[in-house]
Amino acid sequence: MTPVADVEITAWDVGGEPVPFAVAADASYRTFSVGEAWGKPWGTTWFRMRGRVPGAVRHERVELVVDLGWQADSAPGFQAEGLAYRPDGTVIKGVQPRNNWVPVDGDEVDVFLEAAANPQFFGHDIDRFRPTPLGDLWSAGTEPQYTLAAAALVVRDPAVTGLLADLEVVAGLLTEPATDPTLRAVATHAIDRALDVLDAQDLDVDAVRKPLARVLESPANASAHRISAVGHAHIDSAWLWPLRETRRKVARTVANVLELMDSDGGLVYVMSAAQHWQWLREDHPALFERARQRVAEGRFVPVGGMWVESDTVLPGGEAMVRQFAEGQRFFLEHFGVESRVAWLPDSFGYSGALPQIVRLAGIDYFLTQKISWNRVNRFPHHTLEWIGIDGTAVFTHFPPADTYNGELTARELVYTAQNFREKGVATRSLIPFGYGDGGGGPTREMLARAARAHDMEGLPRVRIETPEAFFDAARAEYPDPPQWYGELYLELHRGTLTSQAAMKRGNRRSEQLLRAAELWAATAAVAGVADYPYDRLREAWRTVLLHQFHDILPGSSIGWVHREARQTYESLAESVQALITAAQSALAGPGSTPITFNAGPIAVDGVPAGGAAAVQAVTRQPAEARREELRTDRTIVRLGPDGVITSIVDVVTGTEAVAPGGRAALLQLHPDYPAHWDAWDVDRHYRASVVDVTDVRSYHTGVDEHGTAYAVIERAFRSSTARQTVIVRPGRPGVEIHLEIDWHEKQRLLKLGFDVDVHADRARFETQFGHVARAIHENTSWDAARFEVAAHRWVHLGEPVGVALANDSTYGHEVRRVARRGGGMAAVVRATLLRGPQFPDPDTDRGRHEFRFHLVPAATPADAVAAGYALNLPPVERPGARGVQPLIVLDGDPNLLVESVKLADDRSGDVIARIYEAHGVPGRAIVRTSFDPVAMVLTDLLERPIAETGPELRLRPFQIVTVRITR
Ligand SMILES: [Zn+2]
Repeated sequence: MTPVADVEITAWDVGGEPVPFAVAADASYRTFSVGEAWGKPWGTTWFRMRGRVPGAVRHERVELVVDLGWQADSAPGFQAEGLAYRPDGTVIKGVQPRNNWVPVDGDEVDVFLEAAANPQFFGHDIDRFRPTPLGDLWSAGTEPQYTLAAAALVVRDPAVTGLLADLEVVAGLLTEPATDPTLRAVATHAIDRALDVLDAQDLDVDAVRKPLARVLESPANASAHRISAVGHAHIDSAWLWPLRETRRKVARTVANVLELMDSDGGLVYVMSAAQHWQWLREDHPALFERARQRVAEGRFVPVGGMWVESDTVLPGGEAMVRQFAEGQRFFLEHFGVESRVAWLPDSFGYSGALPQIVRLAGIDYFLTQKISWNRVNRFPHHTLEWIGIDGTAVFTHFPPADTYNGELTARELVYTAQNFREKGVATRSLIPFGYGDGGGGPTREMLARAARAHDMEGLPRVRIETPEAFFDAARAEYPDPPQWYGELYLELHRGTLTSQAAMKRGNRRSEQLLRAAELWAATAAVAGVADYPYDRLREAWRTVLLHQFHDILPGSSIGWVHREARQTYESLAESVQALITAAQSALAGPGSTPITFNAGPIAVDGVPAGGAAAVQAVTRQPAEARREELRTDRTIVRLGPDGVITSIVDVVTGTEAVAPGGRAALLQLHPDYPAHWDAWDVDRHYRASVVDVTDVRSYHTGVDEHGTAYAVIERAFRSSTARQTVIVRPGRPGVEIHLEIDWHEKQRLLKLGFDVDVHADRARFETQFGHVARAIHENTSWDAARFEVAAHRWVHLGEPVGVALANDSTYGHEVRRVARRGGGMAAVVRATLLRGPQFPDPDTDRGRHEFRFHLVPAATPADAVAAGYALNLPPVERPGARGVQPLIVLDGDPNLLVESVKLADDRSGDVIARIYEAHGVPGRAIVRTSFDPVAMVLTDLLERPIAETGPELRLRPFQIVTVRITR
């Protein structure tokens, strides 16, 4: 394209954080020229570009083309971006590296361009990750990052762009993977003929296109694969940029899509994450409204039904429910639609509880692509029925393009057809296409390719349509797909279970506090002593849900994101705790009697689950503590001179939990140098080297005023210190470990290990609303690849009696079989505490951390469940006048538990109870209430009735039910 006129450029540097258009429009601009540097890291510069369309081209399509200084070796979305406005403040369109044009209407050009100097962290080669100070404002420096390389008016000739698309698609038949040899010969010949007549100085477009048309117009084979292409832009809610930048990335991308929809009637675009829609609504109500109109036409499709595309391994059960309930409710409220497709192309593995949760959220289909990243085992299917831990099935598709940022090139289409593992029995797959992460989404070049691949020999048939249309057709043609049972474990990114420990702790703590807040607030509201804080609870939940995004909770973002998130978690804990305190005070009344509140689902020391009572002090035999032995009526713990536990005996059963010659609560330090993705990966070779942390700086034992025995051991290692408290309580089984660690290591992995005397072939790990059992041997490559796995509040090893290890804030675990001294096999259970990856945050995990664990000997899976709740939701005491009757009581089998009690989101005052089966066996219970129930129904996760029910519930293993009770 040859420029037909220059533009006059002026510029204004914002200085601080981004400002709205109205502020920028009133600023004073300086003169600026092409070739000048601009943009300190994370800075914003507003350019104003003014010009006049020359008379000679006024009847043609004129565009303003801008080059902000983009780097060809850096992907769109990972460098500078801009958003163009008219002088009246309306948005025109975004500009990005491969989408760098702004349409010009009329003869006068006057464009405000808000340019963001987002720093570049890597090029196309993602393995080039290296430590950088660019990841936070305070360390990023002020050096300009970009040079304005071009800004000019050009004429766009549709015949020439058509020729370019023709040439590109026909030439695409000659790339790998190979197409039919005869067709390649025909395509080669056609390109030869076209180039023979191409004269750039005297271009006869029709003559050049003619030989190509023969190839383009030859129809697809009868058996050609069918591709449903879905416009999309995968926008990470935060990652190598802070949350505030995502708000702008969403706006730029939506502006592009709306512009493209105006000029191309066939584009269908999906946008996930209700949070992103909410940001758009707050920042750009006009764009939101335009998108809403396209939603009504069925072209702009809200997809996924989630608040954000969250991690799905780490969030607790109730949080996973809320991801879908909040997302779907937002779509219903603003668009009158709900999504039938769970859309999670990029999260790092998928919990076995998801099929049930998505189906209960009104979703029929599940889509991801990430499992193609497995490094050991290739997943055997692209279209399948995924069966969850409770037996619920969801029809599932993994796009065989192996990307969620498709470009619809011929190469990509041919690869998709050849890679599709169901070919022969099924004919359809889906490609999400468009540049993600602020790259700007679909482009007109992609649409031109799709149009040519609609029905063309050598290519699959491409049709742009909605994911629902794809899934309905795919299921209809493949009614009996293969099944996959249990979790979808990603054989990569195992470090995300541990990186940025403060995210893990913040999330776990927030989830538990919100459970308590909703329970006590609902109890107080039903008792008529306080109003239910609907808005504050919803706001708190939405904050937790946002931070479960698949680069925040997993710990894979830049330092800026995690620094803000740590502050957010702290202020969230304060505000939710205030809600809890207010409700408890209202319930217990003024007084000075110590009242114990138990927010957990299992009664503790005479305090009912979900209730509060004044507890009489139980006289127990106090514990005894000698330097190397701690003893209660339930447990005897022995420690070596280094303070490491060598024996844990359960007095009641006489069981020794520690393997012969083994050690427990041992801190172990490994080198941690993953080959590729620093914050994301733990590579198996870390195990080749280990240092036991046994240095003792101080060591003392004692018995506190509650009769609890303890040993406190202070240790130092490398640049860090650890204070380890071993606690044995009268009347309680097992031993608690409390760790305070001041961590200053880089590229080291810290684990807490227990050698346990249990022979078993699998272990149970808590997940959402149940547990997943995983082999702990390495019989198959699938078993061996699971060398680092997730658990929520507990791990249990035993058949069925063995040991349980509960934690209050970690997720990464490993359980391995090892030779037992004296014969047979024992096992090692280790929790992963801390890492020190250098990218994207070179200061990852530096500073103080706290962890609590509880090892229970002679434990059944039921004991593990109870220990998990007790450690995470310990009863709390506050002064008052009276106890509190539980709002909901389950009278029956102990495996049915209440996970959540709240008032209905429709603000009708109905009580909602989420109940699940926790042990993996069928169960039955009667629902009793502290109030007079008028009616009781089972609902979906959006609290909409699905079936009548009486007070008696019968649940299958791991079943979740939501009960709605009208007062
Ligand atoms: Zn992502």
